[in-house]
Amino acid sequence: MLDPALTRRLREAGHIAVFTGAGISAESGIPTFRDRCEGLWAQVDPMEVATPWAFRENPQRVWDWHVHLVEAMRRARPNAGHRAIARLQDVLGRVSVITQNIDNLHQDAGSRGVIELHGNIHRLKAFVDEEAAFADGRSPVICPVCDGYAVHEDCDPFAAKEDLLAIRLQAGPVPRCPCCGALLRPDIVWFGEPLDPEVFDRAWDAADTCDALICVGSSLVVEPAASLPYRALARNALVIEVNPQPTQLSDLAQAYLPGPAAVILPQLVEAVWGISPSAEKP
Ligand code: NAD
Repeated sequence: MLDPALTRRLREAGHIAVFTGAGISAESGIPTFRDRCEGLWAQVDPMEVATPWAFRENPQRVWDWHVHLVEAMRRARPNAGHRAIARLQDVLGRVSVITQNIDNLHQDAGSRGVIELHGNIHRLKAFVDEEAAFADGRSPVICPVCDGYAVHEDCDPFAAKEDLLAIRLQAGPVPRCPCCGALLRPDIVWFGEPLDPEVFDRAWDAADTCDALICVGSSLVVEPAASLPYRALARNALVIEVNPQPTQLSDLAQAYLPGPAAVILPQLVEAVWGISPSAEKP
C-alpha cells in the first residue's frame, strides 16, 4: 500500500493530524458538496439557503432547508473510515482530528477533541445581525443565555442556558432565544462567514506541529481550511491523501491513495500499525 520507507516514517510519527472533508461521510449516505446533481444539494443555490444574508431575508426558508439537511445527517451512521480514525486515536498517543464536516460522525465513531472547522449542525446559536445591532449608533446588549446581541433589553431573568440547549433543529417556526428573543440558527459556518478564530488556531497548530497529515475526502477548494495540508507539506511533514479523485494536492503529497475512505483507511491503519478495525456499533 505504501512503500517501506513511508510506512516506517508514518509508524514513527509522534503526532498525526487527520484532516477530513465531505468525502469521508459519502459512504455513510451524506452526499458531498460537489455531488450537487443529486440529493441534499440538488436544485438549491447555496447562496439562497446557507448565508447570513439569506437568513436575514427569509429565516424560515433557511431554517426549513437545514431541517431537511439535519434529518439526513441524523439518519447517517459512522462508516469504516470514521471508525479507523477513532481506533488510531485510541491506540496511538497523539492524533488530532480536524474536520470540515458538520455531521458529528467522527464523534459518533468515538473520536475525541475533534476540531470542527465549520461547526456542528446539531448545535444552535443566536443569529447575530450586526447591522441591526449597531443601527442608529446603539450599543448592543449581550444576552446572558445565547451570547447573541439581544433584540430586547428586557431579557427574561428566569431563562437559563438549559432552556436554550433543549431547543432542537426540527420542523416548525424558527425558534427564538428563551431569554432575549433573538432568532436561533444552526451553529455552522455559512458562506461568507469567518471561521471561529480559536478553532482555526487549534487546526493551524496541529498542521504546524504534526509529523504526518492524512488528508481524506476533500476537494480542497474551501479556504482557509484547504491550506492546512499545504501548511504541513511546507514544513516537510509527511502528507498522505486518500480520495477516489485526484486533487491539486495529489501530485505534491508523498503518497496519494486513490479509493473510497471506508476501504482505504482501515487498510492503511492495519498495514502501518497493525490495528484491526473495530466492528460497527449496533
Ligand atoms: P467537497 O464536496 O468539495 O469534495 C468532496 C471530496 O470527497 C471530493 O474530492 C471527492 O472526490 C471526495 N470523495 C467522494 N467520495 C469519497 C469517498 N468515498 N472517500 C473519500 N473521498 C471521497 O468537500 P469538502 O472539500 O469537504 O468541502 C465541502 C464543504 O461543504 C465543507 O466545508 C463541508 O463543511 C461542507 N459539507 C459537509 C458535509 C458533511 O458534514 N458530511 C457534506 C457536504 C458538504
